[in-house]
Amino acid sequence: MLKDVHILVEAFQYAERFHGKHVVVKLGGAAAADDEVATEVMQDLIWMLQWGIHPLVVHGGGPQIDAALAERDITPVRVDGIRVTDAPTLEVVQETLFGINAGIVKKLESMGGKALSWCGTNVFVGVPLSPASQFTGQVAEVKVRDLLQKAATSIVVLSCLAAGEDGTVFNVNADFAAIALSTAVKAEKFILLTDVPGVLLDPTDHSTLVSTLTVSQAKELVRKKAVAGGMAAKVKACIQALDHGVNKAHIIHATQSHSLLAEIFTNEGAGTQIIHDMEGGSSSGHG
Ligand code: ADP
Ligand code: MG
Repeated sequence: MLKDVHILVEAFQYAERFHGKHVVVKLGGAAAADDEVATEVMQDLIWMLQWGIHPLVVHGGGPQIDAALAERDITPVRVDGIRVTDAPTLEVVQETLFGINAGIVKKLESMGGKALSWCGTNVFVGVPLSPASQFTGQVAEVKVRDLLQKAATSIVVLSCLAAGEDGTVFNVNADFAAIALSTAVKAEKFILLTDVPGVLLDPTDHSTLVSTLTVSQAKELVRKKAVAGGMAAKVKACIQALDHGVNKAHIIHATQSHSLLAEIFTNEGAGTQIIHDMEGGSSSGHG
């Protein structure tokens, strides 16, 4: 009984602290693909909104896009975890993301949540990732005014597409689209939901999860190439988020039951948190 009260008090304190604040949640492809996982994640988002937190959702679609490309005999190409997007790939990316976005909103609504579909091109201004990139982009600017109004009363669900000044559509890695949004709205928290428990020292062994990383430690892991593929993109995105004023970034397991709630409302938290150097690397409190 006493233990239960303690958990409630802890949760209420966090709810008070985050009231009216923006929390950017990036849903990885794996999180959106599994129906059971998606249901729990959606429930957490609905509760966050009900508790006065403003969740902004950015989604990718890695596995779904790969499957759709395979159907058209297009081989996916990635460099450092980032998809190389040519014109035929972009077409598949747009179609797939459109479907995923509509699916997330439909599911939130069917569960009683208030949700709004928002195409990334209305928010993210894109430029090519490098001079040689065709439709692989990065976010140069974020237009948040209309979005912020809606985010107070609805769960806004954004795809990771950006529009260039001339209307060119760019595919942006969703982790980076999410951090651009976090920075623009000065998010209290930036949470990446993915298909592994967090940053693993040995990617094949879940017991090697790193609970807390300072920015310096995270940079060292990237430098040593201890994190690869999609996780390298995530760690770099978190570093960028903290360098641009976001308070804390988290990489957590979508399939762990209610990991979003655990991260926001408990001391113990979930997954890997990336924090500013001055806080020290030994802090165990995640909230
Ligand atoms: P998402 O759809 O969530 O963006 P990604 O596939 O892009 O997922 O990135 C997560 C993947 O990164 C993991 O499934 C894992 O295979 C890979 N990865 C590589 N190195 C590591 C590491 N050190 N720790 C955790 N995951 C890693
Ligand atoms: Mg990814």
